[in-house]
Amino acid sequence: MKLSTRLSVMKPSAIRETGKQIAARPGCMSFAAGLPSPQLIPVEKVRKITDKILKKKGAIALQYGPTKGHEPLIEKIVKIMEEKNVTATRENIQITTGSQQAIFFSAMMFVNKGDTVITENPSYLGALAAFRPFECNFKGIDVDEDGMKLDELEAVLEKDNNVKMIYVVPNFSNPTGRTWSLERRKKLLEIAGEYDLPIVEDNPYGEIRFEGEDIPTIKALDKENRVIYLGSFSKIFCAGLRVGWICADKNLINKYEIMKQGADLQSNQLAQMQVDEFLNEYDMEEQIKEIIKVYKVKRDLMCRLIDEKFPKTVKRTDPKGGMFLWIEFPNGVDASKLLQKALELNVGFVPGGPFYPNGGHENTVRLNYSNMSQEQIVEGIGLLGELFSREF
Ligand code: PMP
Repeated sequence: MKLSTRLSVMKPSAIRETGKQIAARPGCMSFAAGLPSPQLIPVEKVRKITDKILKKKGAIALQYGPTKGHEPLIEKIVKIMEEKNVTATRENIQITTGSQQAIFFSAMMFVNKGDTVITENPSYLGALAAFRPFECNFKGIDVDEDGMKLDELEAVLEKDNNVKMIYVVPNFSNPTGRTWSLERRKKLLEIAGEYDLPIVEDNPYGEIRFEGEDIPTIKALDKENRVIYLGSFSKIFCAGLRVGWICADKNLINKYEIMKQGADLQSNQLAQMQVDEFLNEYDMEEQIKEIIKVYKVKRDLMCRLIDEKFPKTVKRTDPKGGMFLWIEFPNGVDASKLLQKALELNVGFVPGGPFYPNGGHENTVRLNYSNMSQEQIVEGIGLLGELFSREF
């Protein structure tokens, strides 16, 4: 049997690989996976609405549904977008199986074999994995506290005529926790306009802001319909339901709908109705407030402990929201070697190297603070602090 050429460029996720090592150690504390807190999943509320859906509309919930998505949910997503100052109608929305599917479809939309995709450096590992089967080249553009370094982006665009798409996570990014300034967002739009490039704005963490003012999404600033906005209920409601959406120009949405027909016909009908019914019956704002309250405490705790316990040569980001922070060890320190020693202490994290599309940066680490309890954060970060202090 001959396999397709695309398989040669696909690789297993470093997070899921680390996850397997962690799972093999019962009781291991993990700052590796990007999992929301288990305590914040509204299981009882979902049970109640599921009962209601199955009693009243069971045959609809368990039947095939429209490819575009469950209409009442689409209408609510239009309102969610309007609250973000994005003018949208149902024609601008496509429901997807998590925003992960929307990321994959976006590469399918814009990227041919050999084309260049621009990402942040580092970028979301799941997006790199989704783009790879399209046999593209990556150009990671370095980031600072205000977002992508746009003079570097311009230098790349001047030289490379094959760039077809820019993918960014401007709010509380996975993996660094950083947020783009308003100026960078505006400037990115300007540059993308000059080169007529689409921007895929992936915003699953935007609602989870602990402090400071919301910054408009790039989509809200976009007057040329060049931003493809990706939203998700995974981080504010239930990741396991796999409900996300695309908000974009209606001609593009028509094409996304055709991709969706070919990929999986439709997103899970019951899951879409569960999200819709939750929005009818409960206050999503309250749910988000609760998430913010819990994660802020964990962010504060993890940052304080890192500052106290890690060697002073370790740098960290200062996330104002979301679920992650980013660590940089001195040059020459190999985070994957440290991971093996950390696992012996029953603590896991993800080495940062795989998040860089063009390699390097083995001295970095992503830490998740949403999933572990406060007690586990105290114990785990304490153990990592002792380990790192022994090692360098
Ligand atoms: N984008 C980013 C930046 C993410 O961190 C994640 C989840 N880890 C996703 C997209 C995928 O989310 P979903 O559950 O909506 O598919």
